[in-house]
Amino acid sequence: MLESFIAGLPKAELHVHHVGSASPRIVAELSARHPDSPVPLDPDKLKEFFTFRDFAHFIDVYLAVVDLVRDAEDVRLLTYEIARDMARQQIRYAELTVTPYSSVRRGIPDGAFLEAIEDARVSAEKELGVVLRWCFDIPGEAGLESAEETARIAVDLGCDGLVSFGLGGPEIGVPRPQFKPYFDKARAVGLHSVPHAGETTGPQTIWDAIRELGAERIGHGTSAARDPRLLEYLAEHRIPLEVCPTSNIATRAVERLEEHPLTEFVAAGVPVTINSDDPPMFGTDLNTEYAVAARLLDLDEAGVAGLARNAVAASFLDQTAKRLLTTEIDDYLASWTSRP
Ligand SMILES: [Zn+2]
Repeated sequence: MLESFIAGLPKAELHVHHVGSASPRIVAELSARHPDSPVPLDPDKLKEFFTFRDFAHFIDVYLAVVDLVRDAEDVRLLTYEIARDMARQQIRYAELTVTPYSSVRRGIPDGAFLEAIEDARVSAEKELGVVLRWCFDIPGEAGLESAEETARIAVDLGCDGLVSFGLGGPEIGVPRPQFKPYFDKARAVGLHSVPHAGETTGPQTIWDAIRELGAERIGHGTSAARDPRLLEYLAEHRIPLEVCPTSNIATRAVERLEEHPLTEFVAAGVPVTINSDDPPMFGTDLNTEYAVAARLLDLDEAGVAGLARNAVAASFLDQTAKRLLTTEIDDYLASWTSRP
């Protein structure tokens, strides 16, 4: 019952990765273009390949998919097909985290890369009704050279769909403050700051993300639960957390779902949004994450609609677009509750 409500609910997603969104269907299309790839073509074998086993296996799958994105046409296909999977889930708006550095380093020219994602974005909006915006993120493990390059692509080249600047990859051994100059450069041209922080390290990383990188939202922010002063700060300054429950279990950032700090965030008045991170690779999708959150927070339909409204409010849409999407959510809830 709640599942069918969620399935039809208009939603926005704020924390979801580009390559990490390649579903088995999309991977099959990509590997058909590159028959030398080790990724199995047979649908059953592909499904098995995609079944999440552990974090090391997730990295294997992720890298295999990275290897399938070799030219601008792969980028365009991947991006458009992600939007198709989103449309099926009634996702109306998504801020997709894209890592241009990985593709450019692999030989796709920066201009062709940007053209490919923009072409997919415009087509997806027109043909599928899914509005996409980009967050270009620094792959932290690739160091300052990747930060320099990501800032150059974001700021010196840029593109119409780009709204924010991020930082992903491992947190341990990758202190946030070293990326300050690149975030400064991005923020100076109006890009919003949305680094990952506090997923696998403690609350200090989240403080660093706020104070050094000017974070307006926090990717994950899981360890905020260990610092009451930080929770208070996030609530007072209305800094939303991009919570991805299943991902946190898969990566072992959280041991068991029942221990997920989502309930503590809500109790502390911190704005939360629900997201899927790398959905097919963690065996999930946004609808499943909403169902998980509803269970953790003990929500009914109205409560779940509230989560959808939170995501719109925390998005970088303009006020008019926010109002329209919020009205669509409210209308859907009203039509659901007035059913005979
Ligand atoms: Zn992420």
